Amino acid sequence: MSEENWHGIPRNKILWYPSIDYDKCISCGKCVEYCKFGTYEFQEKDGEKRLAVKNPNNCVVLCSGCDSICPSGAITHPSKTEFREKIKELRKNPNLRLRKNNPK
Ligand code: SF4
Ligand code: SF4
Repeated sequence: MSEENWHGIPRNKILWYPSIDYDKCISCGKCVEYCKFGTYEFQEKDGEKRLAVKNPNNCVVLCSGCDSICPSGAITHPSKTEFREKIKELRKNPNLRLRKNNPK
């Protein structure tokens, strides 16, 4: 249930999703429970369950709610400054402007 576009920019061009520091993650599952958009999932790896960012584009652009619920500080998102810079770059892309004016 990811958004296809964010203000005229294809969602899959926008690098906004959680990053996990696996040295800190204790596999408590709070982020999986908390995110209602199915961004996370536990997967089996070498007989152990490991958190995965299964659907990064499901992460709601500019939401960073799960960063603060992680008890070990293992989740981060890009900074808002970094985000704004990337959006400016994307808006300069003529292919994206074309797509915005002509949704086909
Ligand atoms: S809330 Fe934090 S520690 Fe718990 S599974 Fe998610 S990333 Fe790992
Ligand atoms: S930031 Fe929000 S939408 Fe993105 S994974 Fe966390 S809770 Fe889900």
